Amino acid sequence: MTLALGLHGGCGTLERSLMSEEAWAQSRAHMGAALKAGWAILAGGGRAVEAVEAVVVALEDSPHFNAGYGAALNENGRHELDASIMDGATLEAGAVCATTRIRNPIRAARKVMESGRAVLLTGAAADDFAAAAGLDIVAPDYFTTQRRVEALAKLRERGRLGTIVAASEAEKHGTVGAVARDGAGNLAAATSTGGFNNKPRGRVGDSPIVGAGTYARNGVCAVSCTGQGEIFIRRVAAYDCAARIMYGGQTLAAASDELVQKILASHDIGAGMIALGAEGDPRAPFNTIGMFRGWIGAARRIVVGAHEDLHDLGPA
Ligand code: ASP
Repeated sequence: MTLALGLHGGCGTLERSLMSEEAWAQSRAHMGAALKAGWAILAGGGRAVEAVEAVVVALEDSPHFNAGYGAALNENGRHELDASIMDGATLEAGAVCATTRIRNPIRAARKVMESGRAVLLTGAAADDFAAAAGLDIVAPDYFTTQRRVEALAKLRERGRLGTIVAASEAEKHGTVGAVARDGAGNLAAATSTGGFNNKPRGRVGDSPIVGAGTYARNGVCAVSCTGQGEIFIRRVAAYDCAARIMYGGQTLAAASDELVQKILASHDIGAGMIALGAEGDPRAPFNTIGMFRGWIGAARRIVVGAHEDLHDLGPA
C-alpha cells in the first residue's frame, strides 16, 4: 500500500526578493496544510479523488495562489474560474469553466463528475448547477486581492507600453493542482485556476480540459499542469504524459521532463506539472525560476518548495 500525494501552486512564482520571508513562509505553510488535509483522507482509507479535492480546496482558499480566493482578473477586471477533476480508477471526470460565483470551483467539478450528466459545464450554468448542488456561492469580488488588482494594472500598463513580452511569469499567471494515490492503488488528479491576468473575457485555458491540464489513469500516472494553457491544450499535455508511458514505454521521469523541458519549452512558455507514477513516485518538473510544489511520498514527510530549494515541514 503506497499512499502518495503531490501538489503544485503554479509555475508563476515571484522572484524571492519580491515577497517578504514571512510571506514565503506563509505560502509554504499553506501548502503544508493543504497536503495535510489530503493526507488525512488517504491515511483514513479515503479515495484518491477525495484527497485531491481536499488539497485543491485548501489552495483555493489561500490568497497565495491563483485559484479561488486570490485568483487572476481578466481584461474586464472580473474573475472567470476554471477547474477539473479526474478519477484514474474509472476515467470519470468533471469540470467547470468561466465560473464567477462558486467559492470552490473544484467542488463543483467533482459534483459535475458525480452527476454523470456532463463532463464540463460553462459559466452561469455552472454557477447555477453549483448553487443547486448546495455548494458555497459568493459575490464575485470575494476572489479579489490587492495583489491581483496590481498585477492587472501592471499588465495593462505593459500593454500600453508594448512591453508585455518582458512580463514575468508571476505577473501573468498561476494555477493550483493535486495528484494522489490511495491505498487501493487508485490515482486521481485535480486542477483549479483563475487563468491568466488580463486574459480575454470568455477565455478558457487547459485547467478544465481533461487531457490538457489534468489527467489520471490507474497503472499509468496522475498529472496536473501549470503554464500557458493554450500550448497545453494544443499539445494535449497531460494526456501526452500518460501516452508516452503507456505506448512509448517511457518512465514518468522521462515523460514529464521531456514534455516540460523540451516540448512545452520549445514554445517559449513557462511550464510545469506535478505528477505521480503508478506506484506513487512524485515528479515536479518546471522550466521557470520556481514552482510552488510539495508532496508526501514514501518517506511520509511533508516537503514543499517555491524555488530550487525544498523545505521539510515534518512528518505527515
Ligand atoms: N494553465 C493556466 C491557464 O492557462 C495558467 C497557469 O497555470 O499558470 O489558465
